[in-house]
Amino acid sequence: MTDRHVVIVGAGPAGTRAAETLVRAGLRPTVIDEAPASGGQIYRRPPAGFRRPASTLYGFEAGKAQRLHAAFDALVGRIEWRPGTLVWEARGGVLHLQAEAGRSALAYDAVILATGAMDRVVPLPGWTLPGVYTLGGAQVALKAQGCAIGRRVAFLGSGPLLYLVAYQYARAGAQVAAVLDTASFAGKLAALPDLLAGGATFAKGLWVLAWLAARRVPMASGVTPLRVDGSDGVARLVWRDGGGSERATDCDAIGMGWGLKSETQLADLLEVPFAWDTLQRQWLPQADADGRTPVPGVYLCGDGAAIRGADAAELAGERAALALLADRGVAIDRARVQAIGRRQDRLARFRRGLERAFPYPHGLAASLDDGTLLCRCEAVTAGDLRRWVRGLDAREINRAKAFSRVGMGRCQGRVCAPAAAEVIAAATGQAIEAVGRLRGQPPVKPIPIDGGAAPGGPS
Ligand SMILES: Cc1cc2nc3c(=O)[nH]c(=O)nc-3n(C[C@H](O)[C@H](O)[C@H](O)COP(=O)(O)OP(=O)(O)OC[C@H]3O[C@@H](n4cnc5c(N)ncnc54)[C@H](O)[C@@H]3O)c2cc1C
Repeated sequence: MTDRHVVIVGAGPAGTRAAETLVRAGLRPTVIDEAPASGGQIYRRPPAGFRRPASTLYGFEAGKAQRLHAAFDALVGRIEWRPGTLVWEARGGVLHLQAEAGRSALAYDAVILATGAMDRVVPLPGWTLPGVYTLGGAQVALKAQGCAIGRRVAFLGSGPLLYLVAYQYARAGAQVAAVLDTASFAGKLAALPDLLAGGATFAKGLWVLAWLAARRVPMASGVTPLRVDGSDGVARLVWRDGGGSERATDCDAIGMGWGLKSETQLADLLEVPFAWDTLQRQWLPQADADGRTPVPGVYLCGDGAAIRGADAAELAGERAALALLADRGVAIDRARVQAIGRRQDRLARFRRGLERAFPYPHGLAASLDDGTLLCRCEAVTAGDLRRWVRGLDAREINRAKAFSRVGMGRCQGRVCAPAAAEVIAAATGQAIEAVGRLRGQPPVKPIPIDGGAAPGGPS
């Protein structure tokens, strides 16, 4: 059976397993990814010609990475594969695409959004100095380019990625100046019962911690970041320890991040309703356990639906594809759906533990100094935003954006919105969910103005 009208956006763990499931059922979906190769974030493939072995690139996860890559490679020829292609707008059954060759549009009957996630940050004075990267950015440099962001790197933030990237840098030969976690040790202990549900994944996390400790990498929990010092680049990270003493870590680069944020813009443009998720402290598009949204023909899976990790993304991709098939009247293996559901439940418990152990430090964001740059695209400080919010009673984030320009620049608020919402909530004395969320706007990521070679109608 040929069906070129089923489109999957994203060729990471979720998109790969969704495509595999549809192909197995006889469909020929179109798979689109802005990256030049499949794999997504965790299993990102290096550029052609790079020869580092999978064990070096993916560490503990090398086997899973190789299996996923092999599964995708086996699909090529049985899917319409469009790498290097960004979906920048989605509306009314049509996806608008930007590739090197130009712009085009693609009609679909059903779409599976497997768009993954990005780093979540909290601004601090000096965070736009050269040498400050997100944790994910620091990892991409290592994984995709084989280079480090600095010689002596400090890592700041919270979450498993904080320790993992520090470990990967240390293994690659960089000097890790410090690993500074804003989450408290007590919070991690309290989350232990749920964390234990992570089994082997949790054990790997402990191993990473032990490895760093054995090499005497300085690590601290419950820290408060104060500022990044430097003139034309990072010179030091100043922070306060859990006991209230000010400390400074000399370094020439910083990797920072506080968990992940779902990439939800396409779901938003397709009018999927959103709901506030208290645990992940973010707005998430609504879907049932199978990934079926209230918008007919639109399915969600993987980290783009909610942050659940790579193993859960593979399961959710398969499950969303099975739901799509069932909705088309294709007989599916119900026992398989139930088995996936049981594994997802176990992973959800582990995820709950992670979210509790490494919470987004919303108090830090809410109390940013007035002079701290909040929206780096439009150069809006926390103080600017507070003045607009209080002066014009702009209690809702889209209204605050219209006055202050926060979130109006190149990143469309993908970087600054979480912290901006905290600033508005604190300034107006509202609950964070009352502030609302920035409405998605096309293009979801910057595209060239001249559009390139091939403007076109639906193909
Ligand atoms: C930078 C980063 C590093 C990470 N590193 C690790 C790690 O080391 N270990 C770990 O366990 N977890 C890591 N994670 C989390 C892990 O990658 C995810 O849990 C997992 O990859 C989720 O799989 P997914 O298929 O849902 O999304 P992803 O793997 O993120 O794949 C989504 C894909 O969609 C594509 N895409 C998104 N939007 C569009 C669009 N508009 N048009 C076209 N294509 C689009 C992206 O290019 C991407 O390839 C990382 C996450 C990030 C963001």
